[in-house]
Formats: sequence, structure tokens, C-alpha cells
Amino acid sequence: MSEQDRIVGTLLGMAAGDALGAGYEFDDSPPRGEVAMIGGGLGDFAPGEWTDDTSMAVCIAEETATGTVDLDAIGDRFLDWQRSDPADIGISTGHVLRQASSGRDLPSVAAAYFASHPEGAAGNGALMRTAPVALAHLDDDAAIAGAARAVAELTHADPLAGDSCVLWCIAIDRAIRQERLDGVRDGVAYLPELRRPFWSDALTQAEQRSPRSFTPNGFTVTALQAAYAAILQTPMPDGDPARHLQDVLIEAVRIGNDTDTVAAIAGMVLGARWGAAAVPPTWRDMLHGWPGLRATDLERLAILTADAGGASGN
Ligand SMILES: [Mg+2]
Repeated sequence: MSEQDRIVGTLLGMAAGDALGAGYEFDDSPPRGEVAMIGGGLGDFAPGEWTDDTSMAVCIAEETATGTVDLDAIGDRFLDWQRSDPADIGISTGHVLRQASSGRDLPSVAAAYFASHPEGAAGNGALMRTAPVALAHLDDDAAIAGAARAVAELTHADPLAGDSCVLWCIAIDRAIRQERLDGVRDGVAYLPELRRPFWSDALTQAEQRSPRSFTPNGFTVTALQAAYAAILQTPMPDGDPARHLQDVLIEAVRIGNDTDTVAAIAGMVLGARWGAAAVPPTWRDMLHGWPGLRATDLERLAILTADAGGASGN
């Protein structure tokens, strides 16, 4: 499997998790029977249609694919998406985007939202879309950490949201370049010293506790823990990466609550580790979503972003 296959897999895995979980988001109880790309859910999605997680990642990737990480331009794309009247949108993301008149306003609007909602501004809405930031800066930890936090702060000023994006983007980098599933640990060194013990403890919990204990998971910390726990604790059947990717995404959905987002978060790192070839063709063929894209478009955006960022792609 080539590095390029893992780069492409990052966005495909994310979108597959998102579309798989879409039909079960915030159900009263976790799904008990078969888990499939059934559509429905809060946004009455079509089977295989991705939700806000992937749509917002597309906003970022369409910018990073041009070779820049221009925060104002990414913010403008977020606003274009919000003005398209999406079928679902997170609480704090929706509030911040509705208050801003241009991308340039977003960090200050997000900071004001955090100041007035200090207990409710660390939702998982930045973490769910963070994958393209890692692809844009592979093999440059400092750049990954800086950009992950800055892109998070367009809508989420709570430092825990930025922290979670730094950690997960480092995890994606390690999955692509070092073929590891536990690279999130390396990210702790790129957090402010004050919060490193908190995150180290949170990762230890995810390594030790049942994935299904991390609910509710609309909070960015429990969302990351749920995804990481599902990745590490779901056995790899007969050394088959494709089945591991599928089994983890299904387990991520079975955790319940914010099913599409937890599965999207898990899917980024799984796709980065196991590559695009591990995403089942039936899922890949079904994937589609705003703004009228399909899996081939996600593949194109992933490759352009990594090439623009200087990845070797070999
Ligand atoms: Mg969603």
C-alpha cells in the first residue's frame, strides 16, 4: 500500500464513517441490529450521503488543495455551506456561522460565543472536519499543530476543541507516514504544558475502557476518546485491514449518540492507516454529498492537498 493510498484513505474513511453513522445520530438508544448506510437520521439523508462533518472538511480541503491554508478563505467557504441551508449543523457551529458576515469575522465571533457559553463551547464540530489540515502539512508537526488549532478556532474557541484537532491531526500524520494507529500520543507534546496531563489521562482511559463507555460524545474530548477506544480495542480479524476498518466504524456507530461524527473521526485515522483500498467498494460507490461531490472528488482533494503541502506521495 502506497503513501498516496493512505492519503486518499484519510478522506474516504472519514466520509464512510460519516455516512454510515448518519442514520443513527442521536437515537434514543444505540443501534442493536445490523449497521448499514441506510440514510435518514436528523437530516433525512439519502443512503451514502455524508453530513456536516464531511461537508465542512470539503470546505477546508477545497482551500488546502490550492496550496494555501488561508483561514479567511476557509471561513468564507464555511459560510457558503451554512447559507446553502444544510440539513444539519452543530449548535455552536451554527450559532457562530450565523453571526459572522465574512470568514474574517469568525475567530472573534467564536471567541465571543465561548466567552458567553464557557461550559458548552467544546463540541466536536471542529474535530469532525480536521483531516485535511493534516494532509496539508504531513511531516511537519509544528505546522500541523498550528494550523489544526487555527482552523478549529474559526468556530470553536474553547482550547479543548483546538487541542483535540492538534492531537488527531498528529495521529493522522503518524498513520500515513509511520503506519501506526496510536500516533495520537505523539500529539500531546504539541499541546500547552498545562493541559498535557489532562489529555494523557484521557488517552489512557480510551486505551483501557470500553468504547461504549464514551457516551454522550458530542463533547470533543469524549468524541475523541470514543473513536480512539474503538480503533484500539476492536480486534483485527485475520490480519485483514479492510475488515478492521469496517468493524471499527460499525463499533463506533454502536457506541451511540453522535454516531456519524464519532465514526467520521475514527474513519480519518483508519483510512490513513489502512488506505483507500480498505474502504469497501460498495460504501465508496454510495458516498456523495454537498456540494454535489462523490468519492472520486474526495480522492482528488486529498491528493492535491498533500501534493501542495509537499508530501512525497510515493
Ligand atoms: Mg454530522
